[in-house]
Amino acid sequence: MARTDFGPPDYREMVPPIIKENYGDWKYHTVPRPGVLRHVSNSGAVLHSVRVASPRLVSSEWIHDICDIAEKYCDGYLRFTTRNNVEFLVADETKLEPLLAELDEKDYLIGGVGLSISNVVHTQGWIHCKSAVTDASGITKSIMDEMTGYFTGKQKVPARLRIAVACCVNMCGACHCSDIAIVGIHRTVPRINDEMASRICEIPTTVASCPTGAIRPNPKLKSVEINPEKCMMCGNCTVVCPAIKIMDPVNDGVSIWVGGKVSNARTAPMFSRLAIPFIPNEPPRWSTVTAAVKNLVEVWAANARDGERMGEWIGRIGWERFFKLADLPFTDKHIDDFTHAKTTFRSTTQFKF
Ligand code: SF4
Ligand code: SF4
Repeated sequence: MARTDFGPPDYREMVPPIIKENYGDWKYHTVPRPGVLRHVSNSGAVLHSVRVASPRLVSSEWIHDICDIAEKYCDGYLRFTTRNNVEFLVADETKLEPLLAELDEKDYLIGGVGLSISNVVHTQGWIHCKSAVTDASGITKSIMDEMTGYFTGKQKVPARLRIAVACCVNMCGACHCSDIAIVGIHRTVPRINDEMASRICEIPTTVASCPTGAIRPNPKLKSVEINPEKCMMCGNCTVVCPAIKIMDPVNDGVSIWVGGKVSNARTAPMFSRLAIPFIPNEPPRWSTVTAAVKNLVEVWAANARDGERMGEWIGRIGWERFFKLADLPFTDKHIDDFTHAKTTFRSTTQFKF
């Protein structure tokens, strides 16, 4: 019988022999230089992983090049991290310096380990997704170009720094709990082409697609209608029904959120909270977004204690002082009017001093 769904391959088939032999038996690791982790096992085995940034959207030439490098120094072994960095796994210590020299010579950025920014994670953007408000890849590229020194360790940060970009509030990337999250937002209620909707719209599916119950059938026009009071401009309905459009070049843009983290080290995980409600789309370099992110990182780096993530720092000094230090205005947009805010005051993104 032909097998059609093989699922993901078993990762154990692909790990280097040194990891197989020492699986679950690693004793400690150190960071001898930015971007290099030295793992030592109880058996005395030593493995170095060398982390380099990837541009996330990569060419086939680039993939060939990293594979060639891995063949030369790592017996063909490399891995991608969850934040799209590449790690070269070096079991033969004598190959470490030659590998670093070749990476330097080819202008690969080595870093992203420990107290640094790691690669920005981002969602698909205009190119791939129908509900995108912005171009997540373009913003990410612009930010990372500005943050290179924080990746390579030339510029210091007090703790790990995780930045994520999502091109709409569906946030299919990891934005909810990032130190800095850039989230695309629509600000206008979707427009319905009733004539088109009457021909192609699956009305029950479209009605069911709305998380706030803002859509109801419009039997007169064989279409649907949207209650603007209930609509939160998420764009879900536009994905389900091609007759509904939400894109708006003037009013679409991004918001910036701060202080989230997934880690439960020292303090519990935290959601990111709203810092900047709106910045317009400014392709191709998103200068205002990039400047805002840089400002947030610099203010945090200058004021936080060693080891303090952005959210922990804000928690210590208070949001009022954070807004002052970051020179950000506090507006009505920072007040949470989420329907259940009253009942879930302490567990939502509710802003409070
Ligand atoms: Fe699509 Fe939204 Fe995900 Fe971006 S964040 S890829 S627009 S669902
Ligand atoms: Fe509902 Fe979102 Fe469409 Fe508004 S944009 S009608 S909230 S699905």
